[in-house]
Amino acid sequence: KEISTRENNVAKIKVVVRKRPLNKKEISRKEDDIVTVDENALTVHEPKLKVDLTAYVEKHEFCFDAVLDEHVTNDEVYRVTVEPIIPIIFQRTKATCFAYGQTGSGKTFTMQPLPLRAAQDLIRFLHQPVYHSQRFKLWLSYFEIYGGKLFDLLSDRKKLCMREDGRQQICIVGLQEFEVLDVQVVKEYIERGNAARSTGSTGANEESSRSHAILQLAIKKHPEIKESKRNNDGNESKSGKVVGKISFIDLAGSERGADTTDNDRQTRIEGAEINKSLLALKECIRALDNDQIHIPFRGSKLTEVLRDSFVGNSRTVMISCISPNAGSCEHTLNTLRYADRVK
Ligand code: ADP
Ligand code: MG
Repeated sequence: KEISTRENNVAKIKVVVRKRPLNKKEISRKEDDIVTVDENALTVHEPKLKVDLTAYVEKHEFCFDAVLDEHVTNDEVYRVTVEPIIPIIFQRTKATCFAYGQTGSGKTFTMQPLPLRAAQDLIRFLHQPVYHSQRFKLWLSYFEIYGGKLFDLLSDRKKLCMREDGRQQICIVGLQEFEVLDVQVVKEYIERGNAARSTGSTGANEESSRSHAILQLAIKKHPEIKESKRNNDGNESKSGKVVGKISFIDLAGSERGADTTDNDRQTRIEGAEINKSLLALKECIRALDNDQIHIPFRGSKLTEVLRDSFVGNSRTVMISCISPNAGSCEHTLNTLRYADRVK
């Protein structure tokens, strides 16, 4: 397949909702699927009770750039969300793809295959003579934000810090980056990084739902020999200047932002941090959408880290994941309202 490199009209911000199927547990509990999808629209049928306890249904309707129902495959998700952005990564675009939603709604399921497919397409581009001759290379890094701190998932969870250079660029000091030549290694890095995600004492899913995982694929222009001998600072000297990049972000469970009244102090602190970052993210995307000059990055660690992806030629894809079961109704409505506000 030939990939066109012409300027394309990819929307600056795209908001997509993905509904997962009912799972075995929900089916065995005979829970209702309360979400119906009709093209780009979606309706939540909220079960309610009147004061005299008669049941009724309140309908909530939403419209998005795309709504993907429970039959849509991960391949189709890729086609709708990330694929259109790939060619413009080579034209100095910084793109970000988020998965937002409550724990168990399908964020990780949705997010995992995307960087693999993206790397595959990016590598195909790199093999085109025009890019090959420009010494473009693909680099990968993978880290997480947990309790407002950064950890490298590809180097034994080394704690990282952030620095702003003179040109208002954010640099994550010490973050390991790996050059990627084929897709198989991308798979290995992802698996290695996933194994390193916060597992804490209470079990894997529980803890990882409190962290944001950020996988970045960057196209860099490899320096010429004489150039690389010069003493540049930061990551640039080794791997070259960033041409464009795409970040895949598996956000913390949105319900965790409400953990601010938990009995456990640590949980409360983490909940407050998550709440702050999800609010800041929403504000930044809204500011982007309105072409505001001032983007409120400083609201959280997450948005500060993503700062260079919010300026200049940026693209944002928000994939809001929802559970279809009646028991998740409140969280589902919260997720859809968040997505609605972003647009
Ligand atoms: P989250 O990361 O939001 O906590 P997961 O991605 O771990 O949620 O999904 C929870 C469970 O639901 C997993 O077992 C996953 O395999 C399954 N699941 C999620 N989305 C889908 C889908 N679209 N189709 C089939 N199974 C799904
Ligand atoms: Mg997950």
